[in-house]
Amino acid sequence: MDVWHLALPVNARRDHGIGSVEHSVDIVVLRLTAEDGTVGWGEASPWSVFTGSAEASFAALDRYIRPLVVGVPVGNRAAIMQAAAYAVAHCTEAKAALETALLDLHGRISGQPVWALLGGKCRDTIPLSCSIADPDFDKDLALMDRIRADGLRIIKLKTGFKGHAYDVMRLERLRNDYPEFDIRIDYNQGLHHDDALRCVRDMAQFAPTFIEQPVKAHLRPLMAEIRRSIPVPLLADESVFGPEDMQLAIDGQIADGVSIKIMKTGGLTRAQTVARMAANIGMSAYGGDMFEAGLAHLAGTHMIAATPEITLGCEFYQASYFLVEDILETPFEVRDGQVVVPTGPGLGIVPDPERINRYTVSGSRA
Ligand code: MG
Repeated sequence: MDVWHLALPVNARRDHGIGSVEHSVDIVVLRLTAEDGTVGWGEASPWSVFTGSAEASFAALDRYIRPLVVGVPVGNRAAIMQAAAYAVAHCTEAKAALETALLDLHGRISGQPVWALLGGKCRDTIPLSCSIADPDFDKDLALMDRIRADGLRIIKLKTGFKGHAYDVMRLERLRNDYPEFDIRIDYNQGLHHDDALRCVRDMAQFAPTFIEQPVKAHLRPLMAEIRRSIPVPLLADESVFGPEDMQLAIDGQIADGVSIKIMKTGGLTRAQTVARMAANIGMSAYGGDMFEAGLAHLAGTHMIAATPEITLGCEFYQASYFLVEDILETPFEVRDGQVVVPTGPGLGIVPDPERINRYTVSGSRA
C-alpha cells in the first residue's frame, strides 16, 4: 500500500458561499499492489471547508487503514470497508479512496469494469455540468463560450459569495445569453438565515432546474421551510453526507433532491445506498463531486454508471476545465458534453506515475 499527498495547480479561482479555491487543490492518491503485481488506484479529494483536509485523509489511510488492508484478500472488500468505518471517524474521502482502489484492483484481477462489480451498467454516458464560480464574471463568460462549443448544456452557477445583486445579475445574463443551457444554482451554505428566503425566492423566478444548499448544513428546519416556499426543487448537498444524514433529510422533508458524492458518503456502495433511499421516496439525485482529479472522476463515473437512480447528470468537469494538468495517463473522456463510461477492467484508465511524482507534497512510507 502506497499513499501520496499531491498539490495540483489549477487554472482559475473558484469562489463559493463558503470557501474559495485558488492556485492548487490537494488530493491523496492510494495504490494497492496485489501479490501478483496487479495494482489498484484510488483518490481522496477533500475540501477543507466541506469534508476535511488532505492531511487527515493521508493520515487515515497511511496510519489507521493500512493495517486493515495489507495481507488481506482483495475479495474481502466488504469486511475491509466495515472495519475502516470504525477504525477512524469521519475521513469519508479516505474511505472513498480505499473502496475505489479495492474495486479497481478486484476489477483488474477479474477482468471486469468497476461498474460490473457495483451491479452492472445502466448507461454509457452521463451528462456533464460545469460550475460557474469565478469572481471575475468575464472569465466565466469565456468559459461559457468554451463549454458551449464543446457541447456541454448544463451549468451550475455558484452563488452567495459576493452579494445578492451580483447573483441576480449573473443569473439574468446567463439566462438571456445562453438560453439552451440547463442552469442550476448552488449557494454552498452561503446565505445568512435571515436573508435566505428572500434571496432564494428572487432566484427561483428565473426557473433554475434546482437550487442547492442555500443555508448551513445543520439548519434542516430552515431547509424544509425554504423548500415549501419556492416553486423550484431544492437540493441538499452539505446537509447530506451518507445514508444516516439521508434518513434525517427524508424525515425532515428538507429537500426535493440530493447531491451524491463518494467523497461525502465514504465510498461507492454507500453512495448507491443514498441514491436508492432518495429514489424510494421520490427524491431526485445528482452526481456531485469535490475538487477532484480524473482518478476520482473515474470512480464517480463507474458508480453513476451502475446507479439508475442518479438521473440529473454529474459535475466531473475539473479534469477537463480546471486542473492545469490531470494525473491520468490518458484523458478522462468527455464527448459532446457527456462523460463517457469506460469499458476496460477496473477503472479503465490508470494514473501516470510521472505526474504523481511531479505533484507530490509528501509521499508514502511504504
Ligand atoms: Mg454543492
